[in-house]
Amino acid sequence: MDCIFCKIIEGEIPSKKVYEDEAVYAFYDINPSAPVHVLVVPKTHMESLNTVDEGNIQTVSNVLLSIPKIAEQLGLLNGYRVITNCGTDGGQTVPHLHFHILGGKKLSEKLN
Ligand code: AMP
Ligand code: ZN
Repeated sequence: MDCIFCKIIEGEIPSKKVYEDEAVYAFYDINPSAPVHVLVVPKTHMESLNTVDEGNIQTVSNVLLSIPKIAEQLGLLNGYRVITNCGTDGGQTVPHLHFHILGGKKLSEKLN
């Protein structure tokens, strides 16, 4: 499958790994929008929240459970923002479900 994040998970495209377990891979965003910008992805391919179902919800749960652990590891003790873009109008450019962790400064309250 021609998916850039699947290739990152497989190690075919290099990434700066932050965290990994059986279900989850996290790495630094190549074009950071905040002092700390990490992407957290399921290791199995799924397009977006629109394709979460009974068959993959356990994996998505594992991704969500990993986020506070990753944030702590990154030293985001004052908080952080989690974003998942969904579809064209949501600004999704990579069609493999991913959660952005943004932090390292007081972020703007503006969301759009
Ligand atoms: P989205 O716009 O929500 O689909 O987010 C995709 C994100 O993937 C963007 O923030 C990109 O900067 C990031 N990205 C694209 N290619 C890579 C890559 N090879 N390594 C790390 N991050 C990437
Ligand atoms: Zn993929």
